[in-house]
Amino acid sequence: MKRIVVLGSGFAGMQAVIDLERLFRKAPGYEILLISDQNYVLFTPLLPQIASSQIDPRHIAQAVRDVRGHRRFRFLRDTVRTIDLANRRIDAASGPIAYDSLVIALGSRTNYFGVPGAREHTYDFKSLEDSIALRERVLDLCEHADHITDENARRGLLTFAVVGGGYTGVELLTDLRDFLFDYIARHFRGISRNTIRLVLVEASDSILNGIHPLLRAHAMKRLKAEGIEILYNSRVTRCFEGGIEINQKENLQAATIVWTAGVRAHEIVEALPGAHDRAGRAQVNEYLQMENFPEVFVAGDSAVASSAAGLPENAPQVAPVAIAHGKIAARNLAHRERNEPLESYRYVSQGMLVSLGARDAVVSVGGIQIHGSFAWLFWNAVHLYKLVNLKKQFQVAVDWSLGTIFPRDAVLFRRSGACKLCAAASNASAIAPEVKRTTV
Ligand SMILES: Cc1cc2nc3c(=O)[nH]c(=O)nc-3n(C[C@H](O)[C@H](O)[C@H](O)COP(=O)(O)OP(=O)(O)OC[C@H]3O[C@@H](n4cnc5c(N)ncnc54)[C@H](O)[C@@H]3O)c2cc1C
Repeated sequence: MKRIVVLGSGFAGMQAVIDLERLFRKAPGYEILLISDQNYVLFTPLLPQIASSQIDPRHIAQAVRDVRGHRRFRFLRDTVRTIDLANRRIDAASGPIAYDSLVIALGSRTNYFGVPGAREHTYDFKSLEDSIALRERVLDLCEHADHITDENARRGLLTFAVVGGGYTGVELLTDLRDFLFDYIARHFRGISRNTIRLVLVEASDSILNGIHPLLRAHAMKRLKAEGIEILYNSRVTRCFEGGIEINQKENLQAATIVWTAGVRAHEIVEALPGAHDRAGRAQVNEYLQMENFPEVFVAGDSAVASSAAGLPENAPQVAPVAIAHGKIAARNLAHRERNEPLESYRYVSQGMLVSLGARDAVVSVGGIQIHGSFAWLFWNAVHLYKLVNLKKQFQVAVDWSLGTIFPRDAVLFRRSGACKLCAAASNASAIAPEVKRTTV
């Protein structure tokens, strides 16, 4: 019996295992094993909507066993520690696992670019846990800020900075804006809109680099109009508790800093032998195989494929690329077992869709550039369609629909506890008067 192992249940790994199962369904001499440290597939594009309390976290995660259905691959929830390519063995937390062929799809991790204090003092935004933790943080600070007496201290608690003006940073901040301005400022009587500060910190002179200039200009205008400050040409040089240093000169005080400035390949992938690009991705050939190890394929955020000419294809680390890699890796693994010619991977851009919060988005697809309500509807339709299955599509559609009728859910799972920031900033025994407003 030959064993095919797939590492990672993300977009690339899940696509690979589903296709492998189909390609080897009538080949009883093969065993297919999926190993991942999470027992679900996560639809990352909707993570900002978890942080902003728009959808329920479970609705964007699909259990691997539900995706598997009647397929015959096995699933092992385990953590991979290292990969021994020479001996064809994986060292997992539960022990060693041998393989005959391997697909590595372990994804990426946050790139802090060596900025001192960034790892310790900023919120990561890569996983379901990260988005839940951020949502809790936002609500926790609002609960404290609601009754704090010192106006400056309240502003400090309600300053949220996002580092990185790529699509993740923009979508996160615009979603948070909707939550804070349209829900929090209306339902927390001690908080008004003008005490909330939202800042996007970008190292270059533009946000959403890589998207059409017209759409970029629209996004910049829209964010400004919505009360989001954008600091251009602002490289974060140090992070500390409650703030960041910019360009080694000025400090920005913010109780919450989220780091969305870049990604690197998984550390296990970075430790593999052979060439890697600047982001630590394993340099694989046009068939997604590792140099000197033709039985090993690397896919998704972990891989950078070479063109037929041997030059790296500059494919971004996005879901459509991971899915395409997963498909090609599975097919080439099957071709190799059957002594058939392998298929080359070619990067084809599928466009870019970025939500700008309620009723606005920028969309660049097939040479067409649109923004506004139609683009926003298109963004919603595409994301709903791309969700794993009908159950998840239905759950998210219901969350969105209920959100148009009822207020968002501000349930804080954590009980009241000591908050260092609040204790330092306020006289805890004093209760601030409610902000006067005409509608509550
Ligand atoms: C907040 C956010 C928003 C995004 N929005 C978009 C978007 O709108 N559009 C888009 O196209 N892309 C988006 N992306 C990027 C997209 O999610 C990635 O490009 C894609 O997930 C890469 O797929 P992958 O399979 O390579 O890795 P992943 O999906 O990250 O999967 C990696 C898998 O490996 C597992 N794993 C990791 N380490 C171990 C270990 N040691 N042992 C066992 N298993 C392990 C993980 O649990 C996971 O199952 C977004 C990403 C984030 C974080």
